[in-house]
Amino acid sequence: MLLEGLAPDGGLYVPVELPLLNEAALRSFAGQSFAEVATQVMLPYVTPDYEPDEFAALVERSYENFDHPDVAPLRVLNQATGEWLLELFWGPTLAFKDVALQLLGNLFERELTAKSREVTIIGATSGDTGSAAIEAMRGREGIQLFMLHPRGRVSEIQRLQMTTVDAPNIYNLAIEGTFDDCQDLVKAMFADTEFRERHTLSAVNSINWARVMAQTVYYVTAAVGLGAPSSPVAFSVPTGNFGNIYAGHIAREMGVPISQLILATNVNDILTRAFETGSLQLSDVIATASPAMDIQVSSNFERLLFELLGRDGPALSALMERFRLLGHIELTPDVLEAFQELFDAMSLDDEATSHVIAEVYDQAGVILDPHTAVGVGVGRAVRADPEVPLVMLACAHAAKFPETVEGALGERPLQPNRLQALAGLPERIDVLPNDLEAVQAFIDERRS
Ligand SMILES: *Cc1c(COP(=O)(O)O)cnc(C)c1O
Repeated sequence: MLLEGLAPDGGLYVPVELPLLNEAALRSFAGQSFAEVATQVMLPYVTPDYEPDEFAALVERSYENFDHPDVAPLRVLNQATGEWLLELFWGPTLAFKDVALQLLGNLFERELTAKSREVTIIGATSGDTGSAAIEAMRGREGIQLFMLHPRGRVSEIQRLQMTTVDAPNIYNLAIEGTFDDCQDLVKAMFADTEFRERHTLSAVNSINWARVMAQTVYYVTAAVGLGAPSSPVAFSVPTGNFGNIYAGHIAREMGVPISQLILATNVNDILTRAFETGSLQLSDVIATASPAMDIQVSSNFERLLFELLGRDGPALSALMERFRLLGHIELTPDVLEAFQELFDAMSLDDEATSHVIAEVYDQAGVILDPHTAVGVGVGRAVRADPEVPLVMLACAHAAKFPETVEGALGERPLQPNRLQALAGLPERIDVLPNDLEAVQAFIDERRS
């Protein structure tokens, strides 16, 4: 299940039962390190595959390369109003995806070594996921990673973060096409059964359950840091694939006292519209200042729908099939009501986002990245209870998006060492046409 993205029926994996965190457990987490809490939160999911000691060591190793001792520190934004940032960008690629992918890399390697297996991971990236996956898989036993990106259409920082990694098992394929072309190539390779089996293809995209599991941890540590289990916390989460906020929902289901989960989208607002109208309706992807959220089909939303449909697998597959066919579906009134009970939602356009970046810099001297700014703007607008601390997830370091920050503030954020160090390093990159045969031939050759 770890190595396969999809279940045999084409759907996504979800656990049969969630392990619960009772009040005593939450209380015991106060004062523990991130890795210690992470081990206890996730252990029930990996038992009996792992002994507690082995798993604790693996988790410890996964987070030792983070630049902050707390891994995911809370930073006060406004003490008086109870606004906090949960900084998730202290990992190797300065975005929150490292929190899950650093762990996933270790889980993959352990699984493959135990079974003497090898896999070929292929993925498509418009920026952030690619570098996080590459950092997670570099130099690992039994794994080759081919990451496709649209040539010339990722930012310079994003490209350098991928192409300067000097590891023989990593291939950066710059495709002469768009991100959608890259995604189509990856899908076509997975659909080619013979090719898929020959290379034992695997994926690390955000539908992998292990990523959701790893992301529940920082909801736990943040809530405990702000008074759980004695008092509740609200979270505002910038959303693209519904992965991060879905992890918040799971944390709440596991017993973390979360009084409000706020879903923040940019103008690619399919989920916000569904929340308001009950109609899940595809439209074209619009390029925004928060590119990691420029998504129309939020894969993990399917997991929530499964739950809202009373865990009725066949009903869900029929619904998703209709959605793929027609590009829209209507949620029934009771499903919509359940969705609205669990979340709040709003979207923010680029202009409003830029305004939030300027406002927060004025108020607190903190520079937000555009994704985080969407979450802050929406969080402030729809916060339900001013007495409950509001935690806004800071999903990337502002220095990854210097142009947008400069547009809002008139100056560029300082570059952290990890980014400065990339300048001038040799790049490893192969340019290929937008052509399935050419890409498959390239992979065949490297894998033989
Ligand atoms: C991936 C990403 C998001 C969106 O997260 P989802 O889990 O896809 O909802 C938001 N911000 C940043 C910086 C990201 O890299």
